[in-house]
Amino acid sequence: MIHQLPALPYAYDALEPHIDKATMEIHHTRHHQAYVDNLNKSIAGTDAENKTLEEILQNVSKYSAAVRNNGGGHYNHSLFWKLLSASPAKKPSGKLEAAILAKWDSLEQFREQFYNLSLARFGSGWSWLYVKYNGQIEIASTPNQDNPLMDVNLTDRGIPVLGLDVWEHAYYLKYQNKRADYIKSFWEVLDWNAAAANYEHALKQI
Ligand code: MN
Repeated sequence: MIHQLPALPYAYDALEPHIDKATMEIHHTRHHQAYVDNLNKSIAGTDAENKTLEEILQNVSKYSAAVRNNGGGHYNHSLFWKLLSASPAKKPSGKLEAAILAKWDSLEQFREQFYNLSLARFGSGWSWLYVKYNGQIEIASTPNQDNPLMDVNLTDRGIPVLGLDVWEHAYYLKYQNKRADYIKSFWEVLDWNAAAANYEHALKQI
C-alpha cells in the first residue's frame, strides 16, 4: 500500500492568527510529507505493504522504529488537519457532548485536564481524547508520534477522537517556547463537529 500526503481541506493561512501560515505550510509540506515518504520506505518489501495504516499501528510492536515513528506521524497528522477549521463548531454536541459530560463535570473541566496533560508532556508528543475498547472515553499523552491505536505505552488502548500535536514544530515559529499559548489557541480552531464525527466512527469500530 502506497501512502500519500492528504491535501489540507483549507488554505495554509486559513487558521490565522491562531496557527500561522508559515507553520502550517512547513508542517504539512515538509514534516508530514517526510513521515509519508519515510513510511513508504520503511514498509517497502515487508508484509506491512499489504496492510492498512490502522492495522499496522494496532500491531506496531512487531515493526521497526521507523514504521512506528513514520506510520504514527502520517496517521496523527492526517487526523489533526481534519480537526482544525477556520469556522469551527466551538462546542461538542450529540453523543460526544453526552460522553464528555458523563466523565467530566463540564467542558471546561475537560479542557483544563487536556491542557495540563499537553503542558506536562516533556519533549515531543501528542495529547488525545480517545475511545477505549470498553466504550469509555479517556484522555492521554503519548511521546513522539505514538498514539492510542498502538500496542505500546497505554494500558487502555483505543481509537483517537481528538489529537493535539505538541511537538515544537507545531508552534515554535509563532509561539516560541510558549506551548501554553499554543494550546489555548487550539480551542479557537478545533472543530468539535469533526471530533464528533470521529467519535461516531470510533464507536462503530470498537
Ligand atoms: Mn507535527
